[in-house]
Amino acid sequence: MRIYQCIKEKWYRGERERVKVFNHLKTITYHKWLVCKGCFAVGLYRQGLLHDMSKYSPSEFWVGAKYFQGNRSPNNAEREAVGYSTAWLHHKGRNKHHYEYWIDYSLSGGSGGMSPAPMPRRYIAEMVMDRIAACKVYLGEDYTDSSPLTYYKSRKEPAPMHEFTKKNLEFLLCMLAEKGEKKTFSYIKRRFLKKAGKKR
Ligand SMILES: [Zn+2]
Repeated sequence: MRIYQCIKEKWYRGERERVKVFNHLKTITYHKWLVCKGCFAVGLYRQGLLHDMSKYSPSEFWVGAKYFQGNRSPNNAEREAVGYSTAWLHHKGRNKHHYEYWIDYSLSGGSGGMSPAPMPRRYIAEMVMDRIAACKVYLGEDYTDSSPLTYYKSRKEPAPMHEFTKKNLEFLLCMLAEKGEKKTFSYIKRRFLKKAGKKR
């Protein structure tokens, strides 16, 4: 009887794990699809297709599945459990749409302090799409055009971004909140990304 109980428990635990793997796969793929749609709308086809591919690598995928919760990033659950997120450390070094990718260190000051480099415009645009998609995935029907700006402002500490990156990200998130996706995407495509040759 105890053996039967043991097998049953193992089976159910396995079942829970399998559901988490499936739900994690569904979540990252849905997120990727939303970013892809946004990137295509502004003409960033290659970035749309390649967005977040490292999430399917074993270093990120299995950690994400293990800490899957559905209503927030599994990276935060890993941080609570381990103290830091191995999946995020793997992710941010390989994906240029994260401002953390662009953090260099400074030679001046002698302290080896961190120094953010400016993000190219096309990655700022992808970062905006990423934030929209993340808010849509986690907020569901509560999502509005101002959700990405609200989330951005909710940070307790200011993000260590280069002034150029910060200025443009804030500008685009404010435009999204005030004017909506259609106008913002059209602005990104026709104006924002067209300036790329002149100044970054
Ligand atoms: Zn990413």
